[in-house]
Amino acid sequence: MSMIKKDFSAIAKQKLINRGVNLDDIANLVFDLQKPYCPTVQKDACLEAVENVLAKREVAFTILTGIELDMAAEKNHLNEMNQIILDDYSLYGIDEIMALSIVNVHGSIALTNFGYLDKTKPGIVGFLEEEGKKDNICHTFLDDIVCAIASSAASKIAHDYEDNKI
Ligand code: MG
Repeated sequence: MSMIKKDFSAIAKQKLINRGVNLDDIANLVFDLQKPYCPTVQKDACLEAVENVLAKREVAFTILTGIELDMAAEKNHLNEMNQIILDDYSLYGIDEIMALSIVNVHGSIALTNFGYLDKTKPGIVGFLEEEGKKDNICHTFLDDIVCAIASSAASKIAHDYEDNKI
């Protein structure tokens, strides 16, 4: 099937940019997470780690699914669930669970950092949350996806540092 041959990673990257998320913004989160543990880490290594996370097809699928749900909520297409998702209702939680599909393939360092970013909302994560409060802008899935990409890239940096690749 030709569908399988689509470059979903490239599409996911472009959709992130369309939704206001630059890869540099994510790399900045990674840098701030890992700098205390990997003092020699550079921003370009963080950006490369982000690119590596995005290169996985299953990561691209999660990004594309989450963004579609955010956009569907903005268009009021989600029936009974629309208001819950549009308002990022605190007891909803499916946004975090979906993002864990990215975190789960990157180990325990990714998992702990994901919880940290979700709680503290630094940089682009806080920006997305604030923007998402505006009328008809929904970042319910996107903010968790960004946390998941950053925490997964942070895990890659930690492992590369330990292996003396950084
Ligand atoms: Mg969310």
